[in-house]
Amino acid sequence: MKARWIIFVLVTVAVMFGCEKAVSASQPEVKIEKRAEMSIKKEPFGKTPDGKEIDLYTLTNTNGLKARVMTYGGILVSLEVPDRDGKLGDIVLGYDNLDDYVKNNPYFGCIVGRYANRIADGRFTLDGTKYQLTTNEGPTHLHGGVKGFDKMIWNAEEVKAKDGVGVKLTYLSKDGEQGYPGNLSCTVTYTLTEDNELRIDYEATTDKPTPINLTNHTYFNLTAGSSDILGHELMINADKYTPVDEKLIPTGELKIVKDSPMDFTRPMAIGLRIGEVAGGYDHNYVLNSGGGEMALALRVYEQTSGRVMEIHTTEPGLQFYSGNFLDGSITGKNGIVYKKHYGVCLETQHFPDSPNKPNFPSVILMPGDKYTHTAVHKFYTR
Ligand code: BGC
Repeated sequence: MKARWIIFVLVTVAVMFGCEKAVSASQPEVKIEKRAEMSIKKEPFGKTPDGKEIDLYTLTNTNGLKARVMTYGGILVSLEVPDRDGKLGDIVLGYDNLDDYVKNNPYFGCIVGRYANRIADGRFTLDGTKYQLTTNEGPTHLHGGVKGFDKMIWNAEEVKAKDGVGVKLTYLSKDGEQGYPGNLSCTVTYTLTEDNELRIDYEATTDKPTPINLTNHTYFNLTAGSSDILGHELMINADKYTPVDEKLIPTGELKIVKDSPMDFTRPMAIGLRIGEVAGGYDHNYVLNSGGGEMALALRVYEQTSGRVMEIHTTEPGLQFYSGNFLDGSITGKNGIVYKKHYGVCLETQHFPDSPNKPNFPSVILMPGDKYTHTAVHKFYTR
């Protein structure tokens, strides 16, 4: 009796499954509605005070995501991604016009180089030679010095990759620029993919040994500017970070995050324990991947919009900066006043002050070798 029942149930399920398949096979193929044509548009974005023309490239994928990048500083000017209702919103801080970027840019969206973050006293020794870099934060060299890559005009060309559209930026940093040795030839390619990713590929070669540490300094706000970033839930794939001294220079220690407000190994709202961190978060995390291979560095989720961003990278470090120095003195795009913590920077990088920290992964690029660094920002909703 029992056996008959089992056979009856199995046969019924098999028939139902078969019918469902047959029905779906006979239905016409459902086409996913595409919101846009994949495209690249180039237009003028104004002139620098010394009369140089700046171009703006708009990358659009078929889902309607849009990234705008300009040749001044290689700046990501805007990035529109959908919320959970499919409504597009611009999730990066910045200005509406070139003049404001030239006059006062706290590194919104730019390419940072030759060296992201700080080098103590702007000094390092390489092969027995001492180098003095320009200093722009008291005695410290910050983000490439007085005139870093964020203020340079990059050459641009359109790229049609098989998985998306992009813009390839190139810049030659001459031997001695800001005090660095070697002619450094740099390429940074932004690609907006059909998988709703913004990928940044960095490459560089040199003719003399030199330190290099490039990154992108976008301030993200997944609410698209309707509130600060303290409610964003962040997970960082790192068990350690590099503590800093009063000048924000790493002490050299790799400290465990466990049982401290620095612990983002499980998702935590940025604002939950920020009060326990003097000055707010502005620290380099030691990614568990160790760098070299692509790996998930972080995931950030914003619950009112449902937006999620993941960053995957080949770099060993991540600077988590919670926009502590924003103070309401800047009015950005769409008239939004950027108060404290209105944006969060999540910069894939090597560790700050590595040229003076022999225990940190090396940042020295040798002639004949190629510097490579990839960061993929993946967007979806929950
Ligand atoms: C640094 C901050 C700095 C900011 C400048 C971040 O990458 O970690 O200390 O103030 O850049 O905008």
